[in-house]
Amino acid sequence: MICGRTVDDETRCIHYHTKEDIIAIKFACCNRYYPCYKCHAECEDHPVIRWKSDAFSEKAIMCGVCSTEHTIHEYLKASHCKTCGAQFNEGCRHHHHLYFAK
Ligand SMILES: [Zn+2]
Ligand SMILES: [Zn+2]
Ligand SMILES: [Zn+2]
Repeated sequence: MICGRTVDDETRCIHYHTKEDIIAIKFACCNRYYPCYKCHAECEDHPVIRWKSDAFSEKAIMCGVCSTEHTIHEYLKASHCKTCGAQFNEGCRHHHHLYFAK
């Protein structure tokens, strides 16, 4: 189940919707999947609690193409989905600090 302002069934949203924007991230604060932090901000009234490194074995990244859940650790090492091979958006790396604490 993906919350937020999605525009299709592969987790693209009104904020990020290129071909490669195919993941949703579960937020530690509410345990809900959102396509991006902007969707979270518009739909929730609490601040984001980022994942800390000791929780990187949690499954918190979902591939929007095949719905496989990845652990944060797997996702941070990968450039594509481990199940269907779909390419992840390289640009997401610039936003990792919004989701994952060091
Ligand atoms: Zn939240
Ligand atoms: Zn969004
Ligand atoms: Zn996949």
